[in-house]
Amino acid sequence: MMRIDIATLFPALCQAFLNESILGRAARKGLVETHCHQIRDYTLNKQRQVDDYPYGGGCGMVMNAQPIYDCCQAVIAQVEAVGRPRPHIVFMTAAGIPYTEQHAKRLAGYDSLLLVCGHYEGMDERAIEELADEELSIGDYVLTGGELASLVVADSVLRLQPGVLAEPQGYQEESYWDGLLEYPQYTRPEEWRGRRVPEVLLSGHHQNVAKWREEQSLARTKKRRPDLYKDWLQKNGG
Ligand code: SAM
Repeated sequence: MMRIDIATLFPALCQAFLNESILGRAARKGLVETHCHQIRDYTLNKQRQVDDYPYGGGCGMVMNAQPIYDCCQAVIAQVEAVGRPRPHIVFMTAAGIPYTEQHAKRLAGYDSLLLVCGHYEGMDERAIEELADEELSIGDYVLTGGELASLVVADSVLRLQPGVLAEPQGYQEESYWDGLLEYPQYTRPEEWRGRRVPEVLLSGHHQNVAKWREEQSLARTKKRRPDLYKDWLQKNGG
């Protein structure tokens, strides 16, 4: 059963998300395990301050390496104490490698992950050098903190664990799994505000439905994500 730990200045915020909906249900069934840790608990100063001015000047504050390091060491010790291997450590940074479904598939294979969230202007680079197995960014924009980024990674990885989704292997037909975007989906009623569900989906003809979905998936990807479409064509001999 996979375990994910998150090191953050906002553990309650992260844990509240993880306790809800599909992931919360999976945790209560014992299919996944999540723990969020307060980096501030590892400061060594009376004010419990976790940040300081950047060397070289510039605006904002930078998170000190020491509390991040000590928090991560404590998490590693907790994980190892229950007989698991050292967690794979991922730092969430705006300058990291762009995160995709392919990363989610790969990370889903680890026994446990430790996701580390920065705040303010970021983290002292030496903490990253000392601890990170990799740095990931969830997109080409800057967030105020790594919490949303760590939750994006935790959510996309944990939903791939056996038993988490109601339909076994349900994720394999979804966008990005095979490099394409998903076809359009419809549910009842058959007509809504004058818009009818495509006839083929009402036909009960499984082969025709599958063919229509494949065509839609290819057409959508070609129009919306020509970069993905080009890669898909190359991989599939197009
Ligand atoms: N000064 C940093 C830079 O320009 O790259 C941005 C720091 S950001 C304001 C504070 C924290 O939010 C980062 O340490 C990181 O943990 C998180 N963060 C911000 N944008 C992110 C992104 N796109 N992906 C992952 N984490 C991000």
